[in-house]
Amino acid sequence: MKEIYLDNAATTAVEPDVFKAMEPYLKERFGNPSTPYKIGRQVHEELEEAREKIASLFNATKKEIVFTSCGSESNNQAIKGIADANKKKGNHIITSVVEHHAVLETCKFLEKKGYEITYLPVDKEGFVLVEDVKKAIKKETILISIMLANNEVGTIEPVAKIGNIAKENGIYMHTDAVQVVGVAPINVDELNVDLLSISAHKFYGPKGVGMLYLRKGTKITPLIHGGHQENRKRAGTENVAGIIGMAKAMEIAINGIDENNNKISKLRDKLIEGLLSNIDYTFLNGPKDKRLPNNANIGFQYIEGESILLNLEQKGIYASTGSACSSDTLDPSHVLIAVGLPHEKAHGCIRMSLSKHTTEVDIDTVIKEFPPIIEKLRAMSPLYEKVR
Ligand code: PLP
Repeated sequence: MKEIYLDNAATTAVEPDVFKAMEPYLKERFGNPSTPYKIGRQVHEELEEAREKIASLFNATKKEIVFTSCGSESNNQAIKGIADANKKKGNHIITSVVEHHAVLETCKFLEKKGYEITYLPVDKEGFVLVEDVKKAIKKETILISIMLANNEVGTIEPVAKIGNIAKENGIYMHTDAVQVVGVAPINVDELNVDLLSISAHKFYGPKGVGMLYLRKGTKITPLIHGGHQENRKRAGTENVAGIIGMAKAMEIAINGIDENNNKISKLRDKLIEGLLSNIDYTFLNGPKDKRLPNNANIGFQYIEGESILLNLEQKGIYASTGSACSSDTLDPSHVLIAVGLPHEKAHGCIRMSLSKHTTEVDIDTVIKEFPPIIEKLRAMSPLYEKVR
């Protein structure tokens, strides 16, 4: 049985060329980049080349790149760091109810420390409304943090417009762009952002490495204190192999945007259409347009998503009910609740996220395997019994 992996929003497989680029730094090029002698200096230079390459891919400068350990750290650093460094100016932060937990939990933490957080609602397709952002701004607002694309329902948020409002009001703008590298070009000036988070394992890079873009002049307190690494913004010996791998992965991902998006979005549309038209009582979550090209989030009424996942797994198909970080709770997804689904509908949703390795045969197989699974589960469902 061929396994079909449709959970690429949770993580992706490391690209062979990325692994090849990293390998020397786990073997002979083991020097600490902060040491002054040859084997350290050499690694330092190569690390700086990777930084330069990454900066150029976002239209940023080298000094604006801070390497971190993951997307969650980047989000924590951005929000806690701005909150602490700018507390004399104000204590108000604006975010949305559909952010990743790495943003939401950070904001909740800050609430306990006396900060005021506005969690903006979203519309039925998951969009934050620009007008709502405008209305929420107060003189104490120091930061707006709105994600570039939603990891569960795929909505691409109007960050450039929101960033422009932030700029006009002298407020820092952060965006969580973790799901967007390799999907759409990211230009920090066009997006009007001061801070931007990414994570390598979402675009065929290694786990354990991420980045925070930090616009020159941004007032921020480091999350991790210690040595002088990362321009004194993030102490700790750099994850050299990870950073080299991330630079390579990013280069490949960004060069392949058009070709991959074209292929992946066609397969995604085929998958959505194939499931919605073949199975009754199904619906699409998130928008049709302005949606991540690899995201299909479908609701199957009258049954539990968890049961669908178990049955899919028996067929070698891997998907999810939402964010990987919440898969250990039985609570419905906060994003699906935020777009207005009642609990019973939110519980029956499955997120399938494709990759550049997904094939047409994979999608045909998934479309074929779904209906008998849904039929079997509905046959046991007392809720379905009432409607059929
Ligand atoms: N932000 C978004 C939108 C994500 O999808 C994820 C991971 O699922 C994260 C942040 C966290 O990234 P990491 O797993 O690198 O901590």
